[in-house]
Amino acid sequence: MADIFSKDKRFQIMQSNKRRGNKSTELKLIEIFKKNGVKGWRRRFKLFGSPDFVFPKERTAIFTDGCFWHGHDCRNTKPASNKEYWNKKIESNKDHDRKVTHALEEKKWKVVRLWECELRKGYLPQKLSFLLEEQCPDRE
Ligand SMILES: [Zn+2]
Repeated sequence: MADIFSKDKRFQIMQSNKRRGNKSTELKLIEIFKKNGVKGWRRRFKLFGSPDFVFPKERTAIFTDGCFWHGHDCRNTKPASNKEYWNKKIESNKDHDRKVTHALEEKKWKVVRLWECELRKGYLPQKLSFLLEEQCPDRE
């Protein structure tokens, strides 16, 4: 009995580890928002393509994209083996990303895609500085 329980537990741990990659990027961005006094984001906001962050007031959808999975052209993200398999997967992710961006822009949303490696530096990416400008005048 004890064995079965620990197997289950191990499975749970493995499952949660799988998702941790993107979550840590999201937490990093929250940290950056707080440091810069950016306010008003929502997570798990119901919107096409499930953006990681949504600013309803600014009508802005933010995606934090993992460099490997979304095919960023930065170092350390090229698959070393099984190239064909991975490239296919990455291409289909990129294709999906483009469709989502396009669909949201059609509905007058501003879409910002951030790379995992951009957030690693720990400061607010240039692409998001408009949030500060828009929020600045009446910031408490
Ligand atoms: Zn990157």
